[in-house]
Amino acid sequence: MYRGRFAPSPTGPLHSGSLVAAVASFLDARANGGDWWLRIDDIDPPRHDLNSFISIPECLLIHGLHWDNDILLQSKRHEVYEAYLDRLKGEGLLFTCVCTRLTLGKLGQCETDCASRTHSEGSLRFTVPSDAPKSLDDLVLGQQTASQLPNNFVVKRKDGAIAYQLATAVDDLDEGYTHIIRGADLLESSFRQKAIQQVLKRPSPQYGHVPVVTDSEGYKLSKQNGARGIDVHRPAQNLRDTLSFLRQPAPPEAIQHVADVLEFAQEHWDTSALPAVSCNFLTR
Ligand SMILES: [Zn+2]
Repeated sequence: MYRGRFAPSPTGPLHSGSLVAAVASFLDARANGGDWWLRIDDIDPPRHDLNSFISIPECLLIHGLHWDNDILLQSKRHEVYEAYLDRLKGEGLLFTCVCTRLTLGKLGQCETDCASRTHSEGSLRFTVPSDAPKSLDDLVLGQQTASQLPNNFVVKRKDGAIAYQLATAVDDLDEGYTHIIRGADLLESSFRQKAIQQVLKRPSPQYGHVPVVTDSEGYKLSKQNGARGIDVHRPAQNLRDTLSFLRQPAPPEAIQHVADVLEFAQEHWDTSALPAVSCNFLTR
């Protein structure tokens, strides 16, 4: 049984880059007879745009992207995350870090003696075990190797917020996804999440990373750097543009309705045609 998902953060309206991830994950699930779930990754309230809790699901529906579950919210799972943190702590893999940006290493890892001391407050870091997975058989990119996996990373911030890596690693297990199709900007995160999942002795989903959409200067589109929301008045054209970006066959011009565009795309979904582009983009 295949189960996939789309998991946007509620930080603004969907832009064309997020639509690519939504469409790719949806089509891969549907073409494989699978379920497709929607989760809103709302663990960072200061960054939230409340309108997007409404506008993101609406935008997906306008584009014919119907999910199969009740919408899942990470904000409802704080106790679960704490329980997983206790498990990691029990494995001796958590430590409190008081480093600042200035003292962290190039990959953002703690390189001082925080792990050997008992600090009362700071961020909680996960020590990546030496046997953590260093390679990943990506459904789009093929065999990938973790060239720059840090020795440790934050799983709970100093302000008490659960970090993205922990929440996503454990939700993807608990929600039973078999396949995670998402942007290539998250390839490095997949190694971090696999490291957590291995410690929890649960098999990771299969990952596939699709190219990210960039602006004319090569920067990744993101809500943070002001990418405009999708024009919801032209959903069929948006889907056509997305399929073209993903190098999928173009639906015949006679096909007008979003449901028919998606049906054509699902029937002709070809993962071997997806552009295998891992990281030729810039981030601001
Ligand atoms: Zn430290």
